[in-house]
Amino acid sequence: MSIEVSLVTKLYDSQKALNEISFSVEKGSIVGFLGPNGAGKSTMMKILTGYINPTKGVVLVNGINVLENPIEAKKNIGYLPENNPLYAEMYVKEYLQFQASIYKVGKENVVEIIKKVGLAPEVHKKIGQLSKGYQQRVGLAAALLHNPEVLILDEPTTGLDPNQLVEIRALIKEVGKDKTVLFSTHIMQEVEAVCDRVIIIKKGKIVVDKLLKEIRSNQNQVIEVTFDYKLEEQFIKKLPKLASYKNNYDNTWFLTFDSNNDMRSVVFDFAQENGLKILGLNMHNQNLETLFRESTS
Ligand code: ADP
Ligand code: MG
Repeated sequence: MSIEVSLVTKLYDSQKALNEISFSVEKGSIVGFLGPNGAGKSTMMKILTGYINPTKGVVLVNGINVLENPIEAKKNIGYLPENNPLYAEMYVKEYLQFQASIYKVGKENVVEIIKKVGLAPEVHKKIGQLSKGYQQRVGLAAALLHNPEVLILDEPTTGLDPNQLVEIRALIKEVGKDKTVLFSTHIMQEVEAVCDRVIIIKKGKIVVDKLLKEIRSNQNQVIEVTFDYKLEEQFIKKLPKLASYKNNYDNTWFLTFDSNNDMRSVVFDFAQENGLKILGLNMHNQNLETLFRESTS
């Protein structure tokens, strides 16, 4: 495993930002880290990268304990912090060479990275003169300089215009090919376009941890059924292969099933057998957006 987080809790004074979070990330996967503002995403990332310590729990990166061995661990981690703090007055090349000296990386790597992230045309400018998209490339370049196996990117596309967004997203996908990537974002399409897996946190706890291919599968169909009167929960629970149910409003239920078949006919037969009238029957695909809304609202 590239990342292993076990029972991490973080208190800021008395406020619990993370509450016994556990997850692991396989080598080579790209994981989207989602959650409303204040959910604890940046806190988790700062702990993963050794910038702050957890109150409780253990974090391993490439098997190295980040708390016990932060310097060794950081050699394996590239980190693009939230809001990408850069020195506006420094020239792109100068800044990256300065970063390279911190990481004790040869200057030839700087040239290579500049090419890799598409910074060559802007390399003679001051960082402050660059567009936000190119500033993000500088941040990514700095994170990649020491060729870490694990990349932690905290909202790398926030504040970019639609073109920059597509470019940076493609770049993340490209550099992520031979790395393990954990990145946070507010954009669901981004997760769908780039990630293999999504982790959603709410108030410091994981509420969803799913592979994107599971989300795309039929297993995620939601059936919306409206009966002619309000059924008892006990009754709904008799539906075969029912996985979850929610009485959204009045006589309408949202149902999911442990089956890849279209379950509308099963719901229909169930209603007939029990003398119920169906006023509406629809099937939705529970995509990432609805999953996010339902799990964080
Ligand atoms: P996210 O990145 O998901 O928006 P954060 O990890 O930044 O969430 O914050 C999680 C919670 O912890 C929030 O309620 C935030 O106000 C609080 N928090 C974050 N950093 C600090 C800090 N340095 N001191 C006190 N509270 C903090
Ligand atoms: Mg944040």
